[in-house]
Amino acid sequence: MMPSQQSENASRLLVLDDDPDIGQTVRNMTENLGYQCRVTIRPNDFFDALDDWRPTHILLDLVMPEMDGMEVIRHLADRHCDATLIISSGLGNRVVDAASRAASQHQLTMAGVLNKPFSIRDLRRLLGQRPTASPLPRTAAGPLPDITPAMLADAIHNNQIGLAYQPKVRCADATTTVGFEALARWQHPQWGSIPPDRFILLAEREGLIEALTRKVLLQACATLARLRQARGPAADHWSMAVNLSARCLTQFDMADKLVTLCQLHGLEPRHLTLELTETAAMEDGVLALDLLTRLRMKGFQLAIDDFGVGYSSMVQLARLPFSELKLDKTFVAAAGHSREARTIIRSAVDLGHQLDLKVIGEGVENHEALAFLHEAGCDFVQGYYIARPMPREAIGGWLEDREGRC
Ligand code: C2E
Ligand code: CA
Ligand code: CA
Repeated sequence: MMPSQQSENASRLLVLDDDPDIGQTVRNMTENLGYQCRVTIRPNDFFDALDDWRPTHILLDLVMPEMDGMEVIRHLADRHCDATLIISSGLGNRVVDAASRAASQHQLTMAGVLNKPFSIRDLRRLLGQRPTASPLPRTAAGPLPDITPAMLADAIHNNQIGLAYQPKVRCADATTTVGFEALARWQHPQWGSIPPDRFILLAEREGLIEALTRKVLLQACATLARLRQARGPAADHWSMAVNLSARCLTQFDMADKLVTLCQLHGLEPRHLTLELTETAAMEDGVLALDLLTRLRMKGFQLAIDDFGVGYSSMVQLARLPFSELKLDKTFVAAAGHSREARTIIRSAVDLGHQLDLKVIGEGVENHEALAFLHEAGCDFVQGYYIARPMPREAIGGWLEDREGRC
């Protein structure tokens, strides 16, 4: 079959399905939608087209005689394919959902899944929507250097670790600000902004995380203090969230140090939320219980971060004195197309509420995710649909913009 003539700006859909009838039907459907469509029934032809034709979208059947869809996904990941992927199969929800999760974990960009037989409406919905970013962000523009512990130590010492702030808002109206999460960014003089995924693990491994966290806490508290000064009583209930690694949970006097830090900035402990991942919280059960209990007794807020993806144990969750549960963004991203994800979210919201925790959904990228979280009873939300993480100087403008729109 001759490919349609390639145009740089057109959307190009490449189909791999061993059933030629399905390929032909999809071709008819999508050409009406303005897509150029190319159909392959064998993996070799598919990979040739991938290289020559550079599709913007891929529709992939999971079950094929020569190479199954999971193998194709692995190859796509190895080739750093940046086309938006749709997975289709007649195997039922659980299998396609699992394949979709695997693709996301391989850093592929997923638009969603289709259960066969699917209608043109289903396909149009997926082709038309903004793709869900892979859960682990890709690196910043251009290749980054190999980061050595000495480089990172210097960066911390020389105040190159800055912060981006992402607003958290009330889920019911998606406008009332309840606080911000402070996210570390390494402002490298030569490489620009380096994301935390590139240096937090290294900091933890090399014993630099305490120093890094100190710098983060200082900046985060200073920013909240300034915002409170500028916004007056409206900001009284805002809290600033900071991420804490397990390594930071080893100093028993941490609670006292944090109280002093708050006092220095005219803040109360309730203005600071400490976000811990489940694994961080559970690593040394006894010490964590002592420390976290002290922190809560002093009035700090404690959030369990990335809930649902770590080694979660409901007993541990109930046993540790958290005040907030943050649903992991992979569930929120999948809510639009995965019944399982929706069930997990609903159960986690109920569990959180039963334990008197506020529940926050993060990774909200579109209206559908927001509406679902609202329906599920979630208290707060955070995500690109509300606002992307922003530098301190941009917060005032963002708030004014919101107020203008209310
Ligand atoms: P996290 O604590 O789960 O933070 C949320 C991450 O999700 C942030 O990535 C944020 O930019 C991203 N995000 C927010 N909204 C959306 C959305 O709608 N869609 C998608 N796909 N992503 C969204 P970021 O800033 O790259 O941080 C990555 C991780 O690095 C954080 O995950 C946190 O675990 C860690 N981290 C960041 N700053 C610190 C820090 O100061 N200390 C420690 N220990 N870890 C930090
Ligand atoms: Ca967090
Ligand atoms: Ca998280």
